[in-house]
Amino acid sequence: MDIRSMTLEELKKTVAKEGEKPFRAGQLYDWMHRKLAEDYGQMTNLPAALRERLSAKYPLTALKLIDMQQSGIDGTRKFLFALGDGNLVESVWMKYKHGNSVCISSQVGCKMGCRFCASTLDGWERNLLPSEMLGQIYSIIRATGERVSNVVVMGTGEPLDNYENLLRFIRLLTDENGLNISQRNVTVSTCGLVPQMKRLADEKLSITLALSLHAATDEKRKELMPVARTWCLDEVMEACSYYFARTGRRMTFEYALVGGVNDTVEDAGRLSALAKPLHAHINLIPVNPIRERTYRQSGRAQIEVFKNKLEKNGINVTIRREMGRDIDGACGQLRRRHISEERCGLTE
Ligand code: SAH
Repeated sequence: MDIRSMTLEELKKTVAKEGEKPFRAGQLYDWMHRKLAEDYGQMTNLPAALRERLSAKYPLTALKLIDMQQSGIDGTRKFLFALGDGNLVESVWMKYKHGNSVCISSQVGCKMGCRFCASTLDGWERNLLPSEMLGQIYSIIRATGERVSNVVVMGTGEPLDNYENLLRFIRLLTDENGLNISQRNVTVSTCGLVPQMKRLADEKLSITLALSLHAATDEKRKELMPVARTWCLDEVMEACSYYFARTGRRMTFEYALVGGVNDTVEDAGRLSALAKPLHAHINLIPVNPIRERTYRQSGRAQIEVFKNKLEKNGINVTIRREMGRDIDGACGQLRRRHISEERCGLTE
């Protein structure tokens, strides 16, 4: 296993196998997860011989920054990183009044096939390791020189399709010996993988679970999200109420408003009926049109009518501020542009 994905306990065992004292594990952990060292060379309080042995056995790879775009509108920054094997992932840094938030990817590509999403167009390549999810945050902290208080797993990939690595990532991210980010400030977004949602409910975490709902009937949901053919709304809602019952944490329902598809007053009524018993918070997102599809945003007035209907029904609702519209805003667009530019470069 890669060393930056190890818990402190596992690191202690690894260090013991090397014939070293347990306190060396604490030092190593501190360098990797608090001081955010990129290589062993920086770990100056460890004996040089140990550093050499470790780097031969457990290579420490940092993500390589390939591109960064900064929004002229709101300061949002998009980062494109290369992983050790050359695969590309993107992450987003957003500045809010209450602190800085990072949105990370959990997989290289995605196999879920949501119709409006750019991340899934080239299919799925592989899962990210815990260290690669952490690495996106660590690299952004180094690049911006600022603290991060919130983490959302809403970039490319389906986090619950990479369950074990996601859990380990959350434990390391919120560990008091690392960045020590509060679990309450961590949000995981899923397209609705029912068995994993229930499993997550039993983990005793206090993170927020967001469900990408996007439609309030099975018929409409199936049109937008292939996963709805595997799990019907009844099953997904049952998993949500299990999550709420087990954790006491209110869920967020994400709802991308697509003009002429899911934005009628009747849709808002059905959505209210789903959210009400769960006390779920609804986050309305004007769909971010991607070049490859013809979906368009609902008009401003339509969005207001939709929101008012929810509010009248006593639902807690916000309209997602569109951050970084001027910088390949939608999930997966920056990565896709780079991949196709590389391809074009090769064929020239
Ligand atoms: N796979 C997870 C997390 C990644 S997607 C999930 O489905 O939740 C993060 C969020 O962005 C999801 O709600 C997704 O549906 C939404 N999304 C993807 N493409 C979008 C687009 N073009 N416009 C608006 N929201 C989009």
